[in-house]
Amino acid sequence: MTVSRPRPRRPQRATGAPVWLFDLDNTLHAASRAIFPAINQAMTQYIIDALGVSRDVANHLRTSYTQRYGAALLGLTRHHRVDPHDFLKVVHTFPDLPGMVYAERGLARMLRALPGRKIVLTNAPEAYARAVLAELGIERIFERVIAIEHMRTRRRWRAKPDRAMLRETLRRAGAALSDAILIEDTHGHLKRYRQLGIQTVWITGHLPTRAPALRLSGRGRPHYVDHRIRSLKSLQTGLQSGRLRQTG
Ligand SMILES: [Mg+2]
Repeated sequence: MTVSRPRPRRPQRATGAPVWLFDLDNTLHAASRAIFPAINQAMTQYIIDALGVSRDVANHLRTSYTQRYGAALLGLTRHHRVDPHDFLKVVHTFPDLPGMVYAERGLARMLRALPGRKIVLTNAPEAYARAVLAELGIERIFERVIAIEHMRTRRRWRAKPDRAMLRETLRRAGAALSDAILIEDTHGHLKRYRQLGIQTVWITGHLPTRAPALRLSGRGRPHYVDHRIRSLKSLQTGLQSGRLRQTG
């Protein structure tokens, strides 16, 4: 009798064509203008109600868990008894979403003009991500939307910047790490993922005025940022100038 063994997972072969991984909030739209203040307020209120703590403690838990785990949800599920699906739904539901979404002019045209595969990779829940993309009129440009519900293993919730999660996500998408280009406003995610060998783009145009103080190299960007841009328009320039590799 022959026993079939599972074949070892091989790393995906690089094709040389870019696989763009777009963050959502403060990358594809200006979340800090209206949506983030509303989400932060809703999260704090949820934590107050669920855990019976003061507003100060709730704010502290929200910000410290976001910093430590990449998403407040992960801290709330690891250290408290919070219903993750209820939390995600309550804090990301906005009846007036259309009036809260701000984006760059010509966004759809810019994205369509970029060569290669396009994927959304966000620590937000899927329903919210798809609602924002629909509002922006760009949902169909992306071959898939990888939201926080898709980053889970059977045992735990995961989020950016978890490295095993990114490897697994790219394996499922049939994409090689060396073809991936991550576009993000959160420099901590870029820093952690650059070590995997992917290319990194730091977009700063939607950040609130108090941009983080970072140690910049002589090139005006941290060493783990391949290309620093204010607007998504500059992605095309990055490819043409060779600051972003494209071998396909
Ligand atoms: Mg972001």
